[in-house]
Amino acid sequence: MSFNIKRRAILKAGAATLATGSAGLLLLPVDNKEKLNDVNLINSERIPAVTPALILEHEVAVKDNLQKVKSFNQTFSKDIFLEKNKYVAFHTALNKISKVKKVIGFANFNLISFDDMLNYARRYPQIGSFTKSELVLIDEIFFYDANKYGFHGDKVIKDITSKINKKETVKVAGSGHYLFKGDALTKFNQLEKDVGPNLVLTSGVRSVVKQLQLFLSKLERSKGNLSLTSRSLAPPGHSYHGVGDFDVGKKGYGKLNFTSEFSNTSEYKKLIELKYVDIRYTKDNDVGVRYEPWHIKVV
Ligand SMILES: [Zn+2]
Repeated sequence: MSFNIKRRAILKAGAATLATGSAGLLLLPVDNKEKLNDVNLINSERIPAVTPALILEHEVAVKDNLQKVKSFNQTFSKDIFLEKNKYVAFHTALNKISKVKKVIGFANFNLISFDDMLNYARRYPQIGSFTKSELVLIDEIFFYDANKYGFHGDKVIKDITSKINKKETVKVAGSGHYLFKGDALTKFNQLEKDVGPNLVLTSGVRSVVKQLQLFLSKLERSKGNLSLTSRSLAPPGHSYHGVGDFDVGKKGYGKLNFTSEFSNTSEYKKLIELKYVDIRYTKDNDVGVRYEPWHIKVV
């Protein structure tokens, strides 16, 4: 058996194994041992001997991840759930976040910061200040190690209170969404030209709060299953929508734009042929996210 497994895949598999509670050993090719400190997963003295059995175990873990990504909306036996004693705070926090969205409107909500959200809640009696237990819940969701429930992407925003400077964004007419000036806007404008008038922006800049709201809403629909939720949506802080990526769709295609059906449209076929287009979450991604043919990589 060879070591012909990508280091990244091995790390992911190791993390997945840790998360699911089976043998928590990390497998690395010998020449990569010194790089371990980069990832802070395990201390190099504890690297186990590389045996065929371990290699097999981790190949299985990698395959297992791909299977989960394929059937992203199914529950798997080792999925991690939100603890039951957090449910009350979870529901009331989500309710307040949704009320803030109603008060400030869909488009503005895309950019709202954490502190702004707290201020709106405090100022509007129909919302009411967030309680301590709601804030603890939000904090835990944001700072929890997402690897533990199966999401292996980068954390691109580490500060829960980070703000989006509205002046660095442009509102895209008719979409209710914003794009960052610079690379994102340039790419979208070019796409409109090359793909044609039926290409629309379906999601652009998302603040930490916007991603939190999307994540918690999906978490509610999936009955507290953190693993299942993170197969469809990056957890707050982990979304590249916070730093430049955006989603596109076909005009009039509605919710189908966020399904694999989008990859059957002529718009998708045109865009994928363009040399400057990269899809963030491909069919065989090792991040643990479903295939997203609509999500354009900018960063
Ligand atoms: Zn996206």
